[in-house]
Amino acid sequence: MSSRTTAINEKLYQYLLDVSLRETELQQRLRAETAELPERNMQISPEQGQFMEFLVRLLSAKRCIEVGTFTGYSTLSMARAIPDDGRIIACDLSREWTDIARRYWEEAGVAERIDLRLAPASETLDALLEQGDEGNWDFAFIDADKTGYDSYYEQCLDLLRPGGVIAVDNTLWHGKVADETVTDDEDTQAIRRFNDKLRADERVDLTLVPIGDGLTLARKREGA
Ligand code: CA
Repeated sequence: MSSRTTAINEKLYQYLLDVSLRETELQQRLRAETAELPERNMQISPEQGQFMEFLVRLLSAKRCIEVGTFTGYSTLSMARAIPDDGRIIACDLSREWTDIARRYWEEAGVAERIDLRLAPASETLDALLEQGDEGNWDFAFIDADKTGYDSYYEQCLDLLRPGGVIAVDNTLWHGKVADETVTDDEDTQAIRRFNDKLRADERVDLTLVPIGDGLTLARKREGA
């Protein structure tokens, strides 16, 4: 079957990694350390990290926003792809998780490109908007509380330049978005509403990439 996306079983997934993943030893160690945490499932997959690094390079992005940093694997992927004078505003609430992140950013030599803000992301993004940063950013990655997705998206869209891209994580939500028996889960409902909204949002070009747990890419159109 070639007219739909190929289903990935364990064996094929391993093959995909074998022939395409270029994860460094440092990235492997960060992933291994994160795997010891109870929240380990919040870590993006390595091929998704590599995909995001590729995207950031493709955009020649210099200024990135991250909503939801966790232990910093995604941040590191973006930081590797921006120039020395590039900048990432990384938003998270947890000092414990981001202390792990910072150790690896330091070791990778990209810590100076990353501006970590330990505060509610909506406040950090509002502060950027208030200081007149609208239209100044190239790339945003949203991977935080799912009920907050809609407002993070609106804030990031204002901050992005035309042609800039927002990547939104977990939009397939382990399949729950398409499972009619899931009716009372707030996160699932929030992601469904968000996906429906983006389908109709004329301000952006849209694609949902079935990598990791689903990564939606929205490119801001001219005049949006
Ligand atoms: Ca995620």
